[in-house]
Amino acid sequence: MENGKPAGMRCIQLDGDDRCRLFGDPRRPAVCGSLQPSLEMCGNGRAHALRFLDRLEAMTSP
Ligand code: SF4
Repeated sequence: MENGKPAGMRCIQLDGDDRCRLFGDPRRPAVCGSLQPSLEMCGNGRAHALRFLDRLEAMTSP
């Protein structure tokens, strides 16, 4: 997204299966590649990961 993804907004690069259209593409933002999976972030599945990412976005929003 041209000026970065605003907090709380779905990335326009996600396809209908929630997969990144830019995965493996050099245009994928560096920050996306630097975000490594961890037990703290991923927990036991999607619901935990989405809550974690919501908190992360809230903590880092301007
Ligand atoms: S990895 Fe980055 S570019 Fe890809 S869908 Fe997620 S936020 Fe968007």
